[in-house]
Amino acid sequence: MFYDKFSVEGKRVLVTGGAQGIGKCVAGILARCGASVGILDVNGEAAARTASEIGGKAAAFSCDVTDCAQVGEAVGAFVRRFGGLDAVFNNAGIVQHKPAEELTPEEFRRVLDVNLNGVFYVAQAAAKEFMRAGTGGAIVNTASMSGSIVNIPQRQASYNASKAAVAHLTKSLAVEWAQKGIRVNCISPGYIATEMTGAVRDDWKEFWKEMIPFRRMGTPEELAGAVIYLMSDASSYTSGADIIIDGCFTCI
Ligand code: NDP
Repeated sequence: MFYDKFSVEGKRVLVTGGAQGIGKCVAGILARCGASVGILDVNGEAAARTASEIGGKAAAFSCDVTDCAQVGEAVGAFVRRFGGLDAVFNNAGIVQHKPAEELTPEEFRRVLDVNLNGVFYVAQAAAKEFMRAGTGGAIVNTASMSGSIVNIPQRQASYNASKAAVAHLTKSLAVEWAQKGIRVNCISPGYIATEMTGAVRDDWKEFWKEMIPFRRMGTPEELAGAVIYLMSDASSYTSGADIIIDGCFTCI
């Protein structure tokens, strides 16, 4: 059945930033669809809690994605635990709301370090493993609509720049690794209700909703179908793509 191609059953998937928010939700859905999931997060205790909530074949990996050596060790530990790696949801990220003229070099660098360098280190470690195993694999990066528009009223230049870079990094890696059977795609969510956006001022959220043609924020569940599609054999000729999931925000 062609339908079977949309499956992640039996796939071994590493989810970064998996302890909460989008990563946690998508990891839970991947597990319910038959995947083994590794919950990688800088907050090791929260990752362990999430893995235990998901149950089944979930396992936690404490790792800061800005530390290239830690990333290599975490991917190695994942492979030892599950016997291989088939796909990565490269999703850990942070945001900083602050006027550009007030950002310190450290603050600007920190956002780029997690959102761009971290995504690269994880993609590189996964690709090395796919090449070592000779299996190929799928990488799904979390970019953002903020990579192609400038959000208001909050000011978040470092975040916007980092997400634009993730989208172009995705295309670059997709081309470089096309002959290796490694597909690299990204999703670009709009405003999604998670811990990240939960901390934002209510009047900003009301302002956002007025701007979104759907007149509501999205849920993490509404991203899972795209992630599953991009990891599955149904997308075997798709690489370097960016699936925008934003309730039409960037259409207007
Ligand atoms: P959350 O803050 O809810 O979750 C992000 C997770 O990533 C947290 O568990 C966080 O741990 C972890 N994390 C942060 N830094 C690191 C690090 N250095 N190494 C490993 N893990 C880390 O965010 P969301 O779930 O909302 O966002 C997930 C992704 O989606 C991000 O890349 C974000 O930019 C992107 N996105 C989110 C949107 C939204 O509206 N929510 C919209 C578009 C894109 P801790 O909490 O301990 O820092």
